[in-house]
Amino acid sequence: MNPDLPIILQRDQHPISRQQIDEDCLKVLYRLHRNGFKSYLVGGSVRDLLLGRTPKDFDIGTDATPNQIKRLFRNCFLVGRRFRLAHIRFAGNKLIEVATFRREVSPEELPDDPGDHLHFVQNLFGSPCEDAYRRDFTINALFYNIADFSVVDHIGGLADLKQRLIRVIGDPLVRFVEDPVRMLRAIEFAARLDFNLCDNIIPAIEEHRELLATAAPARVREEVMALFRYGIAAPVLRHCRELGMLPHLLAGYPGTDEGIAMLAQVDARTRCGTAIDESFALAALYLRLFMDSCPPERGTAITTAVQSANDILTPHCRYFSIAAGIRIQARDLLLGCFRLVRGRGQRGEQKFLRHPATANAMELFTLWTEVRPDLRPLLQEWHPAINGADSPPKLPLRRKRRRRKKKPAITPLKNS
Ligand code: ATP
Ligand code: MG
Repeated sequence: MNPDLPIILQRDQHPISRQQIDEDCLKVLYRLHRNGFKSYLVGGSVRDLLLGRTPKDFDIGTDATPNQIKRLFRNCFLVGRRFRLAHIRFAGNKLIEVATFRREVSPEELPDDPGDHLHFVQNLFGSPCEDAYRRDFTINALFYNIADFSVVDHIGGLADLKQRLIRVIGDPLVRFVEDPVRMLRAIEFAARLDFNLCDNIIPAIEEHRELLATAAPARVREEVMALFRYGIAAPVLRHCRELGMLPHLLAGYPGTDEGIAMLAQVDARTRCGTAIDESFALAALYLRLFMDSCPPERGTAITTAVQSANDILTPHCRYFSIAAGIRIQARDLLLGCFRLVRGRGQRGEQKFLRHPATANAMELFTLWTEVRPDLRPLLQEWHPAINGADSPPKLPLRRKRRRRKKKPAITPLKNS
């Protein structure tokens, strides 16, 4: 343990101003504080504010229990069956997450029934310092105390922020076994913040990368989508490939150079401000594999392409429990690219041009032509048609006339 810790930076020793903190988040922080509870801004928001970045969201840590939090806020909902959290809702679908400080559990404290362990471990409340120690990286364990506007560092996160270093709290060999998703998060934060990984991280990943396959698919899905949302899918998945993590993370994704070059195009589009949805990300991930499995240039039939798209997407979507609607949208994007590569004048072109997925498929295909410049002439070929310049005049849609059921002739009742 470092005897200099905790380090407390007073208000005039750090750059965080209340003006940078979300108004509703400040309201929650103040109300907890006024009611005698510890009330801290925690996690990624403190890190980002210290780095001069805009936080994605604001999380709060407190020593109030979930039930005490609920009593303080009318707009509070307790969520999570295992890890009880308070969600405080505000106008515009805004959600502020408030968590009670937790601590790690020693093996002798565990209840006798192993079935109760997880619930016990996740709901053992602790001090702010203990809470800092159970977090993943030192830079994610900094606190901002609303009582005196100080920044509190129990672990050495401030020094690592200065050195631009991702350091696991505790021994990575132990912490990665505890939660394998931390391996991916280490690489993700290094890419997002342009930080270096501490020396002990890569050997620990090489030792435990297989464990990624045992992580909850829902969490891996969420982290992978975060890579796309932050526009860092290409560098992170390339790094994962170099470290041998890919087969355990995304079993069906080959991560070829061309495939990753495609993701770099998608990342550039996202960083320019275009929101990405999961179907687009999925289609981008698997486009190269799909094109190889049913090369349109060799006259592959559309039915074979449909089969290939299904064969590639279904195992991924089944493993990650991705809804059929998203899978079908991703499939339509792949098939759209297939038709675009085949060129104009094929059967079904008019129907394809009217298909709701075609504009998006064209966008994906345009990114693909950055990776495959030999396909660029097709863009000129398709552009007028897709933009409607040479499409045939639109005829008003003819309503299908439903045939009326013939009413049975009414035979007047005879007076009996
Ligand atoms: P972002 O900007 O993406 O929200 P973040 O650091 O806030 O980054 P979250 O996923 O929102 O990341 O998690 C909030 C905090 O919870 C983290 O900063 C970290 O302290 C802690 N945390 C998240 N995941 C883990 C994990 N797997 N193990 C330990 N602590 C974690
Ligand atoms: Mg966060």
